[in-house]
Amino acid sequence: MRDTDRALVQAATAVAKLRCRSENHTVAAAVRSVDGRVFTGVNVYHFTGGPCAEVVALGAAATQGAGELETIVAVGDRGRGVLPPCGRCRQVLLDYFPSIRVIVGPADALRVVPVAELLPEEYVWADHQAAAPVTLPAPRPEPAG
Ligand SMILES: [Zn+2]
Repeated sequence: MRDTDRALVQAATAVAKLRCRSENHTVAAAVRSVDGRVFTGVNVYHFTGGPCAEVVALGAAATQGAGELETIVAVGDRGRGVLPPCGRCRQVLLDYFPSIRVIVGPADALRVVPVAELLPEEYVWADHQAAAPVTLPAPRPEPAG
């Protein structure tokens, strides 16, 4: 853990304390770009599948023109501390930022790991697309009757 990693945890913790005060927002995330800017977001809970805080933070970073992102962390409300990203977020992080680092672990043993380490045998979307688009046969005309 570098000082900048500890600062990122502090940023997410501050947002969790300040903004996660309802069932709709229970997790805050902070992400740092390679140029040192920090972007934050909170989850938007909804039964239809509202986005996690990590995805909202990625959107905030994109909104503000951040380029490559270096490190991300999520922190739960009510003092729950650092939370590991869910499976969907791990896939999103890997696809968007394959070299991003993720802060995980209990408060007394936080560590930084490459996202690929959190997703062994990862699925790489681009590697599994057909080389050419699938063309369907033209519809046959209805028989005259
Ligand atoms: Zn997630």
